[in-house]
Amino acid sequence: MSQNASAWAMTLERLEKAAKIAELDPEVTALLREPQRIFVVSFPVRMDDGTTRLFKGYRVHHNHALGPIMGGTRFHGEETLDDVKALGLLMTLKNSLNGLSAGGGKGGVVVDPDSLSKAELERLCRAYIRAIAPMVGTWLDFPGADLGTDSQTQSWFLDELEQMNAMTHNPAAISGKDIILGGSQGRAAATGLGVMFSVREACKILGIQLKGLRIAIQGVGKVGGWAASLLYEKGAKIVAVSDVFGGVCAPGGINIPELLKFVEKTGKVEGFFGAKAINKNELLTVDCDVIIPAAVQNVINTEVASKIKAKVVAEGANGPTTLDGEEVLLSRGIFVVPDILANGGGTTVAYLEKAQNLYECYWSEKEVHAKYEEMFVQCFNEIYKICKEKGISMRMASYVKALKRIELAIKIRGWV
Ligand code: NAD
Repeated sequence: MSQNASAWAMTLERLEKAAKIAELDPEVTALLREPQRIFVVSFPVRMDDGTTRLFKGYRVHHNHALGPIMGGTRFHGEETLDDVKALGLLMTLKNSLNGLSAGGGKGGVVVDPDSLSKAELERLCRAYIRAIAPMVGTWLDFPGADLGTDSQTQSWFLDELEQMNAMTHNPAAISGKDIILGGSQGRAAATGLGVMFSVREACKILGIQLKGLRIAIQGVGKVGGWAASLLYEKGAKIVAVSDVFGGVCAPGGINIPELLKFVEKTGKVEGFFGAKAINKNELLTVDCDVIIPAAVQNVINTEVASKIKAKVVAEGANGPTTLDGEEVLLSRGIFVVPDILANGGGTTVAYLEKAQNLYECYWSEKEVHAKYEEMFVQCFNEIYKICKEKGISMRMASYVKALKRIELAIKIRGWV
């Protein structure tokens, strides 16, 4: 398959490959090749200058055999239905892999959130959630945050749904909301925490020390920023970081708390003192031990993969490695912790958030993170065992484990 293949085509190819290894019933594979429901909405939003702009949004319910749909909402200027479908299928696999009683789906709006004022963004959030409201709810679909969305957008989503429903409070309808509205302690750090666990467990397998490990991170948003902080606290050296505008590199290590303060103030990593500016495209090939792609998809293609100097790639982003890119990484003996394992912290803690909302009983950050750590380590070890037994990659082993669980649910429901 060409490197320009769409995200959906690539995800389907991985699904087919894993389904063969897992000896999945072909009727189950056929079912997973199609999302169960797709909503395409267009909705007007009043801009600050009085004009109206029409926006396009999507919500895909990929598969709900294991439970209500769970998956984030992406606000991105180049969002496509194809991407949302691919991310929905990944969520079905990720939720299954992490042992959750949840199906998978995803949402998206074609918008660059940075191009809107705060008031415009609020109106857009309210309009989007109104447009997809019939498809959202505790036992139907529990939308979370993703690229371009955060606890503020999630809080507006929840408020709008509650206003529409005669002010009936229902925190278990939206995840990733602010803590004051029932969000979970520890949710903000959760995805980065899983990335940190991924690096730590990979190091154990490879027999290398986390302390002093040289790490390069693409993207310093919710995932990359937290991964950087947590790894820095563990004594790793973050030698390079980048964002959509550019990158910086310091072979002796970047002071991450200072860098994050700088990013909060200026909106970018460029110009950070004590680090040399690099082109954002150089980030993945700098001299280091671990690469964490934590921004967008398809960035590790064959060309980049052949130049990577790291021993480990921990996929914080969804779909950062192309099919051919992964072949090159594996042929070079690079250990890849796949997205559905490495970035599963967000969805797992969103699931714990819903449990807390339903029980009306709230846990501390320490308790939430301890629960996730136990789930992560058990999952990582089970996947590594499959990987060794079957002589397959960590990604294929993750897919196999996830698919077997979905197959059980589909069969017991009598869908095939
Ligand atoms: P975010 O919007 O908080 O941050 C994205 C970061 O990536 C920013 O620093 C941005 O400048 C940078 N970036 C964007 N385009 C880039 C480019 N072309 N080159 C370099 N950097 C670029 O988003 P996020 O929530 O951190 O999500 C990042 C990735 O992680 C996405 O693939 C997302 O699907 C995935 N993910 C997020 C979560 C979550 O809980 N937020 C969970 C699972 C997976």
